[in-house]
Amino acid sequence: MAQTPDVNSALAELERICVETLEPQAAQVDRTGGVAPGALAALRAAGFQRLFHAVADGGLGADGPQLVRAIERVARACPNTAWATLASTMLAGNAIRALGTDAHRAKWLAGLVSGELTGCVAVNEASSGSDPTSGRSRLDPDGAGFKLFGEKSRITNATAADVALVFALAPDAAGTGRRLGVVVLDTRAKGVTTTRLESTGLRGAPWGTLSFDGVKVAAEDVIYIEPERILTTIEWGWLYISGISVGIAQAALDEAVKFTRERVAFGRPLLQLEAVNGRLAMMRTAVDGARLLATQAGAMKASGHPAARGVLGMAKVYTSQTCAQVARDALELHGAWGMHTGYAIERLHRDAICHLSAGSANLRLVEMLVAMQLGFNAFAYR
Ligand SMILES: Cc1cc2nc3c(=O)[nH]c(=O)nc-3n(C[C@H](O)[C@H](O)[C@H](O)COP(=O)(O)OP(=O)(O)OC[C@H]3O[C@@H](n4cnc5c(N)ncnc54)[C@H](O)[C@@H]3O)c2cc1C
Repeated sequence: MAQTPDVNSALAELERICVETLEPQAAQVDRTGGVAPGALAALRAAGFQRLFHAVADGGLGADGPQLVRAIERVARACPNTAWATLASTMLAGNAIRALGTDAHRAKWLAGLVSGELTGCVAVNEASSGSDPTSGRSRLDPDGAGFKLFGEKSRITNATAADVALVFALAPDAAGTGRRLGVVVLDTRAKGVTTTRLESTGLRGAPWGTLSFDGVKVAAEDVIYIEPERILTTIEWGWLYISGISVGIAQAALDEAVKFTRERVAFGRPLLQLEAVNGRLAMMRTAVDGARLLATQAGAMKASGHPAARGVLGMAKVYTSQTCAQVARDALELHGAWGMHTGYAIERLHRDAICHLSAGSANLRLVEMLVAMQLGFNAFAYR
């Protein structure tokens, strides 16, 4: 990807914003359940959202390791802000670019790249998650176009999105069966309603439901694509989950080191107890290992490496599980203070839930992808 000097200045500015704006507001974002508007404006001004796109699309053309570094930094400062912003610019933005038509790109891409517009990708339903092919949202023929019925559930940015990429079953060419289509939907369309779902973790990233009651959809806004191309897009989601997981894990480790350095037990700081510093060393090892894997996955994805998918799957599963474990270890090291809202670890532990998202059954996902790279087919779900 072409490099411009702007990437380095964006990363430097990002560091400043994280320290001065994002970190001080992280607890408030969690408490109030909404990303601070000032934080989004600051990220836009720094060019954060543009890092994740090519220069030709108005982005800055950062390379894979730079992408992961930027994601980690923002997540370490404020996991909610990272999650909401990246679901929009990195996932929805790249999905529009890769799957949309020229007309979709002209209408939506610049806003998603700059961060002025918000997007979401809506695959999940209340009764279907790991198996997206069992979704029930459907497109029924309506004159030259369709009407969309159904409901998408547990979607990041559901209540904030300007544009949604909605996975739905459409009539096939013969008109006898159904095939998967992706609707590029303006969320202001008549018949779309959104509802917020409450959550314990990542409370500041708007998460909820999109319902469709006979929403008119033009034929040209339905894209039929092979599952292979959909997966290539979902991989951007695995990459940002990996970077965010590393960021949250690093923040949890930072909190554990700070607390154990100050807290005295048995006559000395906890940090000086062998069992405690040994545990911190293993946490650090896990975080560094997760970062290396995420960085490798980022480098392979951004350069279009043919073997990227297996590494992205490994990165998503390994980093998100590491994040949950490190946050739990950090919580335990805080003793009972760990559940007090005055300590950041209470919030970070709730935010360390990245392993619950982007499904395909977590461990099963990595088993499948890596097995395929080893040369055998592990798709044996049914
Ligand atoms: C913070 C957050 C944000 C999200 N944002 C979005 C979004 O923007 N868009 C979107 O579409 N979705 C989103 N989701 C939904 C998410 O992708 C799904 O929750 C996920 O795909 C899992 O689906 P499920 O919750 O229905 O679990 P289920 O599919 O019901 O699985 C339940 C459990 O069974 C296990 N399991 C299922 N199948 C198998 C199998 N074959 N083998 C072994 N184990 C299996 C799973 O690993 C899991 O542990 C989000 C979720 C979270 C937590």
